[in-house]
Amino acid sequence: MDCLFCKIIKGEIPSKKVYENEFVYAFEDIAPQAPFHVLIIPKEHIASSADITADNSILVAKIFEAAAQIAKENDLKDGFRIVTNSGKVGCQTVFHMHFHMLSGRQLEGQMG
Ligand code: 5GP
Ligand code: ZN
Repeated sequence: MDCLFCKIIKGEIPSKKVYENEFVYAFEDIAPQAPFHVLIIPKEHIASSADITADNSILVAKIFEAAAQIAKENDLKDGFRIVTNSGKVGCQTVFHMHFHMLSGRQLEGQMG
């Protein structure tokens, strides 16, 4: 399967690792939208959040556990935002489910 983020997990494409455990990998976004912009992904290939089922939903919990740990390790004590885009309407561009974790500046409104 030709998946960019699977290649990043395998180290075939370089990335700046922020956090890793048995279930998830987190790395700096190549085009940051905020001073802190990390992508948190499951190591298992899941195309998007529309593909979450009872069999794999534990990985969503693992991603949020990782986010809390990443926040502690990076001193994000004033907060952060987690966003996931799904499908065409959601403007998803990489079809390996990922959660954007944004911080380091005051984010605007509810989404931006
Ligand atoms: P989406 O638009 O699918 O929600 O987000 C995809 C994200 O992946 C974008 O923020 C984009 O900057 C990031 N991205 C795309 N290609 C690469 C890459 O090769 N390396 C890294 N670190 N991030 C990437
Ligand atoms: Zn993948």
